[in-house]
Amino acid sequence: MRAAKETVVAIEYTLKDDQGNIIDASGDRGPMEYLHGAQNIIPGLEQGIEGLAAGDAKSVLVPPQLGYGEYSEKLVQQVPLTAFGANTPQVGMRFHAETNLGMRVLTIKKIEGEEVTLDGNHELAGKTLHFDIKVVSVRAAELTELSHGHPHQAGGCCGGGGCGSAEGSEGGCCSTEGSAGGCCSTEEPAAQKQGGCGSGGCGCS
Ligand SMILES: [Zn+2]
Repeated sequence: MRAAKETVVAIEYTLKDDQGNIIDASGDRGPMEYLHGAQNIIPGLEQGIEGLAAGDAKSVLVPPQLGYGEYSEKLVQQVPLTAFGANTPQVGMRFHAETNLGMRVLTIKKIEGEEVTLDGNHELAGKTLHFDIKVVSVRAAELTELSHGHPHQAGGCCGGGGCGSAEGSEGGCCSTEGSAGGCCSTEEPAAQKQGGCGSGGCGCS
């Protein structure tokens, strides 16, 4: 079977930037499963996997517009320190917030005096992504997977230890930040379309 719409594909991958630095890898987490054609992963990667079969390996180059988008200065804003109330903001801290572009993950970039600079760009925005992937398996999706818009592991939606994958993950059922998608991703527009899942756990079983 080949990767196509309505198949569940498992891949191992390494993601590098233009300088060859490893940004992310499936590594110890094991293969990442996704539902092909359901916007679980960034479009450029999905296009590169289309038509591959188990055992196939490939390098896939993904430009920003087919990855996490171009870097936008419009997503950088300053807010007063007082906006954080009793919380103490720190550079690098991330949180979800409603913005004029919808719900975004904001990163605290800078704190100067009473002014805090927030960046709503994805950490990989504006970057060309170099994926080395290997297809581990391709299977037909189950009906419930098609209706939920994501793959199910043994034990049902988000079962089987798939939840809680680390920040910066390339996906996975319950990753919430830096994710390329997946069941509970809240960050990417493509992932948002799947809906149904909050960052505290999946809303389906
Ligand atoms: Zn589900």
